Amino acid sequence: MMPDKIAIRAREIDNRLSQLYPKAKTALLFSNPLELLVATILSAQCTDERVNQVTRSLFKKYKNAADYAEASQSELEADIYSTGFFRNKAKSIKGCCDTIISTFGGKMPDNLDDMLKLPGVGRKTANLVLGAVYGIPGIVADTHFIRLSQRLGLTKNTDPVKIEFDVQPLIPQKRWSPFSLELTLHGRAICHARKPKCSKCVLLDLCPFSAKSI
Ligand code: SF4
Repeated sequence: MMPDKIAIRAREIDNRLSQLYPKAKTALLFSNPLELLVATILSAQCTDERVNQVTRSLFKKYKNAADYAEASQSELEADIYSTGFFRNKAKSIKGCCDTIISTFGGKMPDNLDDMLKLPGVGRKTANLVLGAVYGIPGIVADTHFIRLSQRLGLTKNTDPVKIEFDVQPLIPQKRWSPFSLELTLHGRAICHARKPKCSKCVLLDLCPFSAKSI
């Protein structure tokens, strides 16, 4: 079956962004799957730079799921305080680590179904971790991905899961993770929420939204 016009455009978007952001990878620092899960939880409403500052010492103190599970809530809150929303984040980290111990024998899950059993972990976080650590392709529908895929006419939906399933068939599966990172990087660098820099964008001629914004 021939790819339709949207799929052809999506692949051209991927081509151009992969040249602009070659070898794109998450800016979060980690050395094992649990570290990336914790860093991803901490990155909500926080810059990657700040998360990396915090995790530099956090990962020396907490080396495995048991270390987080056994820590008191207040101690973990203090250790991650500067990433913001520290109460909820500490609760999420401890909840995940409790489940990793009780359900998975202390080992991080390595597939989507099991990742989604961790409390508070949705498809966005699960796909990010699985893609970066295990090379399992996944669309990471974060705020930038959602905004850009809407502006670029790849979806009409607003729900992240529906957007993920709209974009999946447009891009070869092996490109799902890198394409997600590219859109996120482009959202941070050029296609800002309030004032997209359309005149500097390599996607200008492919973007239905640009006509309305320049
Ligand atoms: S042309 Fe403008 S709206 Fe479209 S992707 Fe580029 S910056 Fe975003």
